[in-house]
Amino acid sequence: MTVLVWFRRDLRVADNPALTWAANTGRPVVPLYILDDDGLDVPGGASRWWLHGSLSVLDQALRSKGSRLIVAQGDPRAVLERLVSETAASALVWNRRYEPRTIAQDRDIMTWGKDAGLEVTSFNAGLLHEPWTIQSGIGSPYRVFTPYLKACLARGHDAPQGAPGGLSSPASWPVSLNIETMGLLLKASDWAQGLRAAWSPGEAEAQARLEAFMEQGLATYAQDRDRPALTGTSGLSPHLHFGEIGPRQVAAAIDLIEPGEGPATFMKELLWREFSHHLLFHNPEMETANLRPAFDAMPWCDAPDDLRRWQRGETGYPLIDAGMRELWTTGWMHNRVRMVVASFLTKHLMIDWRLGADWFLDTLVDADAANNSAGWQWVAGSGADAAPYFRVFNPVAQSRRFDPDGAYLRRWLPELSGLSTKDIHEPWAIPHMALAKAEIALGKDYPQPMIDHGRARQRALDIYARHIQGKR
Ligand code: FAD
Repeated sequence: MTVLVWFRRDLRVADNPALTWAANTGRPVVPLYILDDDGLDVPGGASRWWLHGSLSVLDQALRSKGSRLIVAQGDPRAVLERLVSETAASALVWNRRYEPRTIAQDRDIMTWGKDAGLEVTSFNAGLLHEPWTIQSGIGSPYRVFTPYLKACLARGHDAPQGAPGGLSSPASWPVSLNIETMGLLLKASDWAQGLRAAWSPGEAEAQARLEAFMEQGLATYAQDRDRPALTGTSGLSPHLHFGEIGPRQVAAAIDLIEPGEGPATFMKELLWREFSHHLLFHNPEMETANLRPAFDAMPWCDAPDDLRRWQRGETGYPLIDAGMRELWTTGWMHNRVRMVVASFLTKHLMIDWRLGADWFLDTLVDADAANNSAGWQWVAGSGADAAPYFRVFNPVAQSRRFDPDGAYLRRWLPELSGLSTKDIHEPWAIPHMALAKAEIALGKDYPQPMIDHGRARQRALDIYARHIQGKR
């Protein structure tokens, strides 16, 4: 009689259709999370740290409803087979995922479950529009964002559901792993300390962030969202990634606000997330293969030392270094800065976007197969609807424009904080006197720029013209 609810990227009790379905049956419910042995679900240390917190909070939320979270580790199908047998379950439900690997896994488990005589049902908890529901006029998937956006807005979206009131327990609970001893927490305590200071995983915190943003951030979102020194964006990305909050809940909150530039821009960003999932679903190789095959001819540089300097925030370009240090310290980086650091790696240093994407997957708390690969391919120029290759962000101009008073640079590069607002964006270009006054020795206290912007830009454009231009 028992219903097994398999939690994945839906680590919440509200607007969780699989959990609600199980609760509505009135039958005993066993909520279950499986840490997949292949490690791909949580690709890096920062995501594993987040998952640890998120599972603990979900367990508490389920306990407040008279239930609990059973945690297991292994191959999902093998674990499910074991638990179906142990709990004598007659139904298995989950909310769908959209990465190629998980789609294949879901199909396999759906077939096995049905063959085994189980009632098996899946639901949508993760997207406003599942990838197959939005099609162009000729019935094909979209590759360009603007018409995709229009199609989504024309279609509207569903309202979220509430949380189930209570959950029936089985007569006895299957054994669960202890979340504390699963090895999800980081070994490097200084890394964990930075993440802890910046974030609190879990559904309640996600709701609190949404409410705070709706009250304090939404009205000025359109103006402030590109300013990394401000709290101009919602900070919801890790919560959305782990499904501690669902997009229907975010969209419903936007719907309550009077229409305007802020709400419209925020809705548009939420739909960029949907578009990334749409792209990955329809281009399952996108995490590692160029969406524009012409980019396969790109002669990327094999430069491990340059890669390391970028990763460590030691490029000598303040905006790049501030962003990379923000990433390392907090597990997150502002979107504008993500674009500039990705451009620097792929165009100034001519390093393959996949190496940058890997570093992001390891260090971001919101590391997400769809958003990350779409973001990197967009910046590198290899994406379907990508920034043109000749758009090589000038890290100094971007810094002056989006961090005009240097507050973001001072926050992450305290060694430069003695420089004036005019000088801080370009320390190598200022008179020695000014550096001496601020007690900065370039090359010692802060690196010399590792590459000249003008020359790097020209090299990137030449390579592009030789290898890519004119090809599809
Ligand atoms: P807000 O501005 O408050 O936006 C609200 C939500 O909309 C976000 O939480 C996010 O879910 C979605 N969103 C906003 N911008 C984008 C975007 N450009 N693409 C897709 N969804 C978006 N986002 C991730 O969630 N995971 C990643 O691994 C990731 N990697 C990226 C890599 C690169 C190179 C780039 C350029 C962008 C990447 N992004 C990624 C997208 C974006 O930078 C983050 O979603 C955003 O910075 C999160 O901050 P926020 O929640 O405050 O966003």
